[in-house]
Amino acid sequence: MPEPTSPRVWRPRRLLVTRAARGFAHGRAMVERAAALGTEIVELSGDRLTLDLPSDPARAYAEAKATLAVVVAPPSRRRFQPIPPSADWRVDLAQGCPAHCSYCYLAGSLTGPPITRAYANLDEIVDTIPAYVGQGQITSRSRARAHEGTTFEASCYTDPLAIEPVTGSLAALISWFGAAGLDAALRFTTKFADVAPLLGLAHAGRTRMRVSLNPALFARYEGGTARVADRLIAMRRMADAGYPIGLTIAPIIAAEGWQAAYGGLIADVATALDGAADVDLTVELITHRFTEGSKATLDSWYPGSALDMSAANRIEKRTKFGTSKQVYDLPTMKALRTFFYDTIAAQLPDARILYWT
Ligand code: SF4
Repeated sequence: MPEPTSPRVWRPRRLLVTRAARGFAHGRAMVERAAALGTEIVELSGDRLTLDLPSDPARAYAEAKATLAVVVAPPSRRRFQPIPPSADWRVDLAQGCPAHCSYCYLAGSLTGPPITRAYANLDEIVDTIPAYVGQGQITSRSRARAHEGTTFEASCYTDPLAIEPVTGSLAALISWFGAAGLDAALRFTTKFADVAPLLGLAHAGRTRMRVSLNPALFARYEGGTARVADRLIAMRRMADAGYPIGLTIAPIIAAEGWQAAYGGLIADVATALDGAADVDLTVELITHRFTEGSKATLDSWYPGSALDMSAANRIEKRTKFGTSKQVYDLPTMKALRTFFYDTIAAQLPDARILYWT
């Protein structure tokens, strides 16, 4: 197995901490870790986030992305929501991400400047979890996945590994699931690679770490993330540490050259896992999609991006919430699906594909 390089570690330029967040030991620990990394600390006198952003949109975006706010998750964040098809419930440790992916799914779900907000009241969030165990309607209802117990997804509104050097929240949650003795499992996915602090945790096999991947052909759409080669090394190290692992191949982009690019990526995954013992590997396959709102936000954040969000090869799909999104048309979807199922069966015969969307 190749040796890990020094994975990219995000250091916020500025950390804002609210008055209420300073009342939690976990919030104060985040401030201490950020200060040790050399981050400027701003103690707010109240609980409203105030940050004077430049009027120039590009500079405002850059300032916001370089800022971490430590806040208290409101009670609404502690009422968990189902998150199909990934997990029974969404558990949020933070909201926002410091990376710069020009297809970022958060653009459609978060509003306002893209400041990352990390939650100081981790204990309150964790205390909420037991009430949801046994209540799942998504993976718990699936014959193929019920054995996972009630599942909790930590990557819906953030990349929890990206911010882990400051928050420590992911390690705390993994340890909690490892010790809780509940019929429940944590899941997270990441485009980052600094897993060293997670390797020695007593996880009890209750956390599945997935790496979110795209081939090098599309690396230009994933600014600020870890190199794909480092993500694969990270995944192998987690497998060797006994964690269930997975691939989130997302978003799958049907641009010219996609067959060779994704074929090479899947071959690289097989190489990275070569010789690993008892690997429990799942695959989640998510095609690129966007809404009118997310496209408008992404166009404003990444005006020069070459990512195709035109109507070519697209159809509109209505969601059950009454909104609509642009997905690939049926011939494109069919070609992609056939390719991925065939290639994964050939290259990663022991992998379980959880879903295609
Ligand atoms: Fe968005 Fe994930 Fe990229 Fe972060 S790593 S910017 S959450 S797509």
